[in-house]
Amino acid sequence: MCGLFGIYNHKDAVNLTYFGLYSLQHRGQESAGIVVSNGEKVSYHKEMGLVSSALESRKLKKLLGNIAIGHVRYSTTGSSVIQNAQPFIANFKKGVIAIAHNGNLTNTLELKDKLEEEGSIFQTSVDSEIIVHLLTKSKKETFEEKLADALSQVKGSYCVILLTENKIIAVRDPEGFKPLCLGKIGGSYTLASETCAFDITGAKFIREIEPGEMVVIDNDGLKSTKPFLKQKNAFCIFELVYFARPDSNIYNSNVYMTRKALGRGLAKEHPVKADIVIAIPDSGNYAALGYSQESGIPLELGIIRNHYVGRTFIQPTQSMRDVGVKLKLNPVVEVIKGKRIVVVEDSIVRGTTSRIRVKALREAGAKEIHLRVSCPPIKFPCHYGIDFPSKEELVAYKHSVADIAKELNVDSLGYLSLEGLVGAMSAGGENFCTACFSGKYPEQIADGSSKYKLEEKSI
Ligand code: SF4
Repeated sequence: MCGLFGIYNHKDAVNLTYFGLYSLQHRGQESAGIVVSNGEKVSYHKEMGLVSSALESRKLKKLLGNIAIGHVRYSTTGSSVIQNAQPFIANFKKGVIAIAHNGNLTNTLELKDKLEEEGSIFQTSVDSEIIVHLLTKSKKETFEEKLADALSQVKGSYCVILLTENKIIAVRDPEGFKPLCLGKIGGSYTLASETCAFDITGAKFIREIEPGEMVVIDNDGLKSTKPFLKQKNAFCIFELVYFARPDSNIYNSNVYMTRKALGRGLAKEHPVKADIVIAIPDSGNYAALGYSQESGIPLELGIIRNHYVGRTFIQPTQSMRDVGVKLKLNPVVEVIKGKRIVVVEDSIVRGTTSRIRVKALREAGAKEIHLRVSCPPIKFPCHYGIDFPSKEELVAYKHSVADIAKELNVDSLGYLSLEGLVGAMSAGGENFCTACFSGKYPEQIADGSSKYKLEEKSI
């Protein structure tokens, strides 16, 4: 997971990229970077940390130009160090290229071995650099053909935005795992991982970049091509469950409304007698509202979130996550004490955070705790960019729902079914990847068709 932003031919390109990245901060908190071109010279700044500290205004003042791309990083491959911060920049014989990547390539080792054998030297440990090496080695004629040639060799998920001295190119992988949106600010085209970045920068949403589409934006305007073999769509359903911002529209769906629908479905599938519904804020808020509206049980704000603590889930180490959980959420005793509570959570990954939260609710005097989860049990790792890498870390991989309920010390536990989840997707459930729930991994095969494999793919 990462956040991307790009803008072509705008006098405030750097500042708008800064604000775009600010609104995409939830997609990555480890590093931030902006690359800008004035048509001749490319300059950049990237640093570890949140956008507000990494991209201070005095540093941005040195970045001059009207074409810019930016990136916020959440590491799934490569460690959390400055060398791996993006956009990744490379000089090659025809000029400078910068690339910002959201996603995760699944044939990295194989490609890297081959490239190293052929003499490539890697500067970073991120998979995105592979794309640049493949591009610079391609024998094709034009830059766009070289890029298509490079991307046709990679597997997995990618949305990329590239910058050269005088153009921006955006590509979404043929299965469309991650979202990428196109907008316009006045006469200037802009790109962002989610539409919330357009709201903040005053851009008008035009459409999503389609799976397998390459968009080139330069002085001639916008040119769209589909250079890859068509695949079956595999939009990441977890974006709508947890990752994307609720005020965004992705995959032709509003995230807020989708999450509320998941909560309604949850109330139908797992009703219970209770006094109040509370959410694990913030990502559980919308499903909790749906659960409350469907069940008629009043919604209370029984847990208060400290907004100055980052998302625990996307901190890179377990010890950081544990501290983050305790710092982040605090129950309101006056709301909780003596009550039968439905607690709505968007998802359970390792179960460690849920256990700590249930304990805190018991200490606050909850009479009964009925945990409801607005997605199915996560049993399989994601190879496409969400950080739950090994099966052993996933509480639902080895344990039944009854065992998890016992482990978490709740009176009852109910997960939304897979049918309930895909049935709530207005873009049509068949267009989504559900591999972390179902184990059916979208598999890209050479003849351009796509099939689903029942077992986990090893990488
Ligand atoms: S495996 Fe899960 S998290 Fe990964 S892309 Fe598929 S739906 Fe998204």
